[in-house]
Amino acid sequence: MTKIEIPLDIPDVKIENVGINKEGDIIITVRSTVKGTRCHKCGRKITKPHGHDQEITLRHLSILGRKVYIRIRPARYQCTHCNGNPTTTQKLQWYEPRSPHTTAYEEHVLR
Ligand SMILES: [Zn+2]
Repeated sequence: MTKIEIPLDIPDVKIENVGINKEGDIIITVRSTVKGTRCHKCGRKITKPHGHDQEITLRHLSILGRKVYIRIRPARYQCTHCNGNPTTTQKLQWYEPRSPHTTAYEEHVLR
């Protein structure tokens, strides 16, 4: 596969793979370099890994006229303080949970 250098403008991620699907869209698989998240129950910073959520695909800003999609498997962390040791999916600043787009894409569309 051709190696493509792409400026993503997304903080705290490492690009793991860049591919092009049969529609000609660019698919970029990334991994978060941020460790830990805040427990959704007690608000403490938690860093005990608890696997990953299902992979999600987010529409991002087009590059060179091609649609760009970002793929990521959000990390999950477990709280050791709360009863029942609940888990929380890592919240990242560049997309909203359950949104199909990155925040950068949303801002671009609204402009
Ligand atoms: Zn907690």
